[in-house]
Amino acid sequence: MNKKRPAKKSESQKDKRQRAHEIVSILEEEYPDARCHLNYESALELLIGCILSAQCTDKMVNTVTPGLFRKFPTAEKFARADRLELEEEIHSCGFFRAKAKSIINCTSALSEDHGGEVPKTMDELTKLAGVGRKTANVVLGNYYGVPGIIVDTHIKRLSNRLNLTKNSDPTKIEYDLQKLIPEEKWTFFSNSLGDHGRTVCFARKPRCEECAVSHLCPSAGKF
Ligand code: SF4
Repeated sequence: MNKKRPAKKSESQKDKRQRAHEIVSILEEEYPDARCHLNYESALELLIGCILSAQCTDKMVNTVTPGLFRKFPTAEKFARADRLELEEEIHSCGFFRAKAKSIINCTSALSEDHGGEVPKTMDELTKLAGVGRKTANVVLGNYYGVPGIIVDTHIKRLSNRLNLTKNSDPTKIEYDLQKLIPEEKWTFFSNSLGDHGRTVCFARKPRCEECAVSHLCPSAGKF
């Protein structure tokens, strides 16, 4: 059993980095197969899945995408989609009008400016409609193997509870975590911390007594 480490009021950046590295090691043991939970076979499919997953569960997105990708197998096909037909296809993911608009605008830009391919840089990705840093990091990290910290709702909550950041702005959290986590682990850290948030560190009632990193967490038992 791990011994509880008293929370330090002012932890140096060096100590915090050391603690973050220990957290990563434990996550590697706990979630060795951590991965993105969206189903995809191409960068385009992952990108569209990410756009659909805003305010929606990955599970729901995965029920919609097989039929969607059969109907629209390329960026060009998405770009030329009948908007109402696309809205109907993605209706169950919520915010279907805004998402259909983003998908059509995004894939139009892919067709016109990128030869129908999904670009591999943060700059190019975040210029696409409906694509922010989170989605860009999902695609870069999970498909292209370019490390990225993916700040979703779980990472935001857990990185604050673990006192790896004091920020609530996703971009600031991303930069804080980049300074603490080894770069080659950024994508794994994001996926595994997400799993930890889904299975142990729940938003309302985190199960601190069952948590493998509780001895490294200043918030342990404070709920
Ligand atoms: S100790 Fe509790 S608050 Fe901290 S990460 Fe674990 S479950 Fe979350």
